[in-house]
Parts: sequence; C-alpha cells; structure tokens
Amino acid sequence: MTRTTTSPGETEALAAELAERLATGDVVTVSGELGSGKTTFVRGACHGLGVDGPVTSPTFTIGHRYRGRNVDVSHLDLYRFRGLSAAEWGDLEPYFDDAIVFVEWPEAGEDALPPPRFAVRIEHRGSDSRFVSIDEC
Ligand code: ADP
Ligand code: MG
Repeated sequence: MTRTTTSPGETEALAAELAERLATGDVVTVSGELGSGKTTFVRGACHGLGVDGPVTSPTFTIGHRYRGRNVDVSHLDLYRFRGLSAAEWGDLEPYFDDAIVFVEWPEAGEDALPPPRFAVRIEHRGSDSRFVSIDEC
C-alpha cells in the first residue's frame, strides 16, 4: 500500500496502523534518505506498540530495545555499516530475540538480517509531504 502523509504526526499514525499487524519475530525495514522520516515512522510504531517515553535515533549506538505493551521492540540503524561482519552480526543478534525489529538503513544488512515481513520506503515530496510505501514481503 502507499500513502502520502503531510505531517510527522500522520506518518506516526500510519506506522501505528502497521504496528497493529505485527507480532514477535517480525522484522520491518525502513528505507529512505536522511531526513525522510524513518525515525519518525519507527517512533509512531513504537508508541502504537505501547512503548512510552522518547524514541530517538540510534545512529550513534548500535540500537535500542524498548518494552512495549505486550512485546519488546528493537530499533536498529545500520547507517554506519558497510555489510555486516560475523562479529557485528553477533552484536546485533540479541535485538532480534523475542522482539519486533525495525531496521533503518537496512541495505548493509541485506545478506545477514532475517528476511523482513514488511519493507517500508519513504520519499520526500516537498516541505512536509512524504510518499510512504509499505510492501508485505
Ligand atoms: P530519518 O530517520 O529518515 O533521517 P527523521 O524521522 O529523523 O528522518 O526526520 C524527519 C524530519 O522530517 C523530522 O524533522 C520531521 O519532523 C520532518 N517531517 C516533516 N514532515 C514529515 C512527514 N510527513 N513525515 C515524517 N517526517 C516529517
Ligand atoms: Mg533516522
């Protein structure tokens, strides 16, 4: 499905809709250029899943793991990676244990990550407009 959103709140609400369909073990990749709204999307999904408190970009850490209402939610950002070594995958693996996982900049992990259940792509469409596509894989 595709949708154009016109505010961060709309992108968060769309993500929360998707979150209702997710279960433990599901991986969701979130692609798009810097500032397109990937972290905003993950924030909306996390809040939909009952994570309270701030959901911020893990760009300078390997990831975050949050406790939701019924499930844990992991948020990874592979921006800094060019492929994943066995050691790097070893650091990431615990985030996939018993959690729903959102991965920003998934390109580096293509060969190493578990297959995603949904692939989200976000594109700038001028000012606060974003074109969001969500594909079930
Ligand atoms: P990324 O993680 O892709 O780098 P962020 O979610 O961190 O992007 O930042 C997106 C920026 O764009 C935020 O400042 C957000 O407020 C702004 N923004 C404006 N309109 C939208 C929209 N429709 N959807 C998502 N973010 C939007
Ligand atoms: Mg981000």
